[in-house]
Amino acid sequence: MADVAEALARKAAERVAAAVAATAAAAAHHTSQVQPRLARVLEAFAAERLGTQHFASVSGYGHGDQGREVLDRVFARVLQAEAAAVRLQFVSGTHAIAAALFGVLRPGDRLLALTGRPYDTLEEVIGIRGSGQGSLAEFGITYAELALTAAGRVDFDGLEDALALPTRMVLIQRSCGYSWRPSLSVAQIGLLCERVKALQPGCVVFVDNCYGELVEAQEPTAVGADLIAGSLIKNLGGTIAPTGGYVAGRAELVEQACCRLTAPGIGGEGGTSFDLNRLLAQGLFLAPQMVAEALICSELVAAVFSDLGYAVQPLPGAPRSDVIQAVRLGDPERLKTVCRAFQAASPVGAYLDPVPAPMPGYASALVMAGGTFIDGSTSEFSADAPLREPYVLFAQGGTHRAHAQIALERALLALAQAGHQV
Ligand SMILES: *Cc1c(COP(=O)(O)O)cnc(C)c1O
Repeated sequence: MADVAEALARKAAERVAAAVAATAAAAAHHTSQVQPRLARVLEAFAAERLGTQHFASVSGYGHGDQGREVLDRVFARVLQAEAAAVRLQFVSGTHAIAAALFGVLRPGDRLLALTGRPYDTLEEVIGIRGSGQGSLAEFGITYAELALTAAGRVDFDGLEDALALPTRMVLIQRSCGYSWRPSLSVAQIGLLCERVKALQPGCVVFVDNCYGELVEAQEPTAVGADLIAGSLIKNLGGTIAPTGGYVAGRAELVEQACCRLTAPGIGGEGGTSFDLNRLLAQGLFLAPQMVAEALICSELVAAVFSDLGYAVQPLPGAPRSDVIQAVRLGDPERLKTVCRAFQAASPVGAYLDPVPAPMPGYASALVMAGGTFIDGSTSEFSADAPLREPYVLFAQGGTHRAHAQIALERALLALAQAGHQV
């Protein structure tokens, strides 16, 4: 028996080693992108004269918190936007996105999603699932959707018809979310911005930028997006930020989102940063490197599973616009086996057995492998999957490729032991 286990482990290690070799060029490419992104971060810190005095914050109201103000301007520069608001008071990416939507939209306005059904947690924000309590729908904001094409791409041909009615805002989701579709490149987002503005010049282009930050040379705000939002326990937190989110874009719109987060009249000028500014700054400093490592981990996941014959999205070495790697495992048992193996290879809670469970904001039960230092962080190596057809695993994050290699070896071994072909 021991010999059999040893042979399987050896085979798993060989498969992962082959994936490392096969993705060497892609890994080198991702590594080469750290320098220009880091240069942008360093230029922003220097231009805004970040110093140790900014690490402390003002308590109470947080009025005049210089650290918060400097970080806002630093993030704006890094995100190539006029303004940004980086706040620990955003409890998640969903909250930052909701603040942007509620901050800008008014009763009677129309919101149009251009990338099909938005991310799961936004369904209740918009009011297309659940009780509708407190949703945009309850506030009289109408909603429409331009479905994706059969290939999962934006239906450029349908754009003119979809924008026939006056529309206050279009919603573009950069990352695939929990759907089997290619993520949008920043160039495609730029093209969409151009088309939308040509049809309706006053329409606000909002981009859900989750998981996309620093993956490409430009952010959506550099190519025409008016407002973007995301989470700090994803890319920009660099695995260091303890919580939080950001909005960035045109100053007037950022302030509208802040008025929703805090209160009209306070807007972006209140909210302590709990003496945690150093972690936000340090996280941003590390983010280019962490994003590159996460991309390399994704390449490895893609290579290992595509080698086994599973459909993966994107393919190893293909252009990437976010850090997500989707693997169509096609079977709930395989999904759970892989998540269990990833969990066992995690630094925190390795002894836990991930079981599918309901999550606030999500329609389907989710199985999650996330033994991360920051709870729920997906910039650390993690994987999750809604328990629904076609049983796709979404892997993301990773502070070093070695961690993905270890986790993948364990997953292959577990699959083999469960009788699957590896
Ligand atoms: C992660 C994510 C969000 C927000 O999720 P939170 O868990 O609330 O931070 C929104 N949209 C997309 C596409 C995402 O990937």
